[in-house]
Amino acid sequence: MAPPAGRRVGDDFVDDSDSDVSITGLDDETSRAKAKGKGKAIDRNKKDKGKAKAKEQPYAWEASYSRSWDTVQEDERGRLEGAVQDWIARGRRRRLLAPAAAIRRTIIRHLVLVLDLSSAMLDRDMRPTRFDLMLQYAREFITEWFDQNPLGQIGVVGMRGGLGERIGEMSGNPQDVLKAISERHKLEPTGEPSLQNAIEMARASMSHLPTHSSREITIIFGSLTTCDPGNIHDTLDECLKDRIRISIVALAAEMKICRDLCAKTGGVFGVALNEGHFKDLLFELIPPPAQRAVARPGAQGANLAADLMIMGFPMRLPDTSPPSLCVCHSQMKSEGFLCPRCLAKVCDVPTDCDICGLMIVSSPHLARSYHHLFPVKPYAAVMSLEETPDPSKRCHGCSVAFRDTPATMLGAAGEGMSPLGRYRCPECQNDFCTECDVFVHDVVHCCPGCGK
Ligand SMILES: [Zn+2]
Ligand SMILES: [Zn+2]
Ligand SMILES: [Zn+2]
Ligand SMILES: [Zn+2]
Repeated sequence: MAPPAGRRVGDDFVDDSDSDVSITGLDDETSRAKAKGKGKAIDRNKKDKGKAKAKEQPYAWEASYSRSWDTVQEDERGRLEGAVQDWIARGRRRRLLAPAAAIRRTIIRHLVLVLDLSSAMLDRDMRPTRFDLMLQYAREFITEWFDQNPLGQIGVVGMRGGLGERIGEMSGNPQDVLKAISERHKLEPTGEPSLQNAIEMARASMSHLPTHSSREITIIFGSLTTCDPGNIHDTLDECLKDRIRISIVALAAEMKICRDLCAKTGGVFGVALNEGHFKDLLFELIPPPAQRAVARPGAQGANLAADLMIMGFPMRLPDTSPPSLCVCHSQMKSEGFLCPRCLAKVCDVPTDCDICGLMIVSSPHLARSYHHLFPVKPYAAVMSLEETPDPSKRCHGCSVAFRDTPATMLGAAGEGMSPLGRYRCPECQNDFCTECDVFVHDVVHCCPGCGK
């Protein structure tokens, strides 16, 4: 079925039992009731424009009703396997596009997540509201970010009432960061956002960082205005000087200053078309950025040569040890970690020792960061077994039996997919099933056949 036909649904559909449809209808009505005459006119204009490029993905404000059952296609036997395969294939293709060679990446990252808490975030063009969706994605983003960047630290800054507001201190503990944005009522959107104030606040919280770590600002921006006390281009110059990388995910439309901030600092700028695209844009910022081969201001030569850096592996105190004060919170606790240089007690790793400034990491964290530097090579889809003299009967990862006859591929599912469900490691020549292929590349980051 063609998606354009499903754009407008007759009113008789709205009363249907499907909750998605009825919520959509309700949303639409409330926003229409709220919208002033001007807003309505704009809306209609955009809708007309949208029809001209009907084949493309609609913007969130264009899509009246989502008919999720139209996007899933059944095969001739009425099963959904084809749709699922297509979904996996899309993930595979994306990964094949990613560079397999080792590139230099920053693994010690410092990120300030700037959340727009202005009244523009109450807009309902993304369901349920931009604000609720942003909070939900921010939580998922933080969890995933720490999973992939165990040596990183995140701070959270909010923008509302024309001010920057510190919501969460820079921390290497995902629980601390999640807790900072967990209380929704404390983050209630109001007033105007101020890009300059928020960026200045984020910049100040990263000014003390050593040169080997990355400094990044990721802004989720729903507004179309910014209310700044001074010239924001001065702030941009300061960020360039401090080598801060700014990335922005805009929820409304592109603004010149946002584009400039990202382009000049080497970040990524994107405008979210709809809920799914918003998440994609945000999650694309999770893998560590490739290190830029530009000469640092102040340092001699290009930073292509490696710098050595000091790290300490702390000693973990058992839970039964006598309670003592920690240097980070001044709380009496039994458990904790001892800085190997000054023997100060800290609560969490990774962190910088509050006494001597040594970077304290645990060795598993360091090892987990390693896979970004040496990614597992993508497995090749096996198209036929003619060239394999003695094919294995079972998956090398999970011992599930492979099918003998090639499956018929549906539509776009053919690309990057093996009709036999076999994916071969280019190093060890072992065959893996689809699930193991995805699991190895997305979770394990190490081939079980060859250990590479
Ligand atoms: Zn503490
Ligand atoms: Zn120390
Ligand atoms: Zn398997
Ligand atoms: Zn292998």
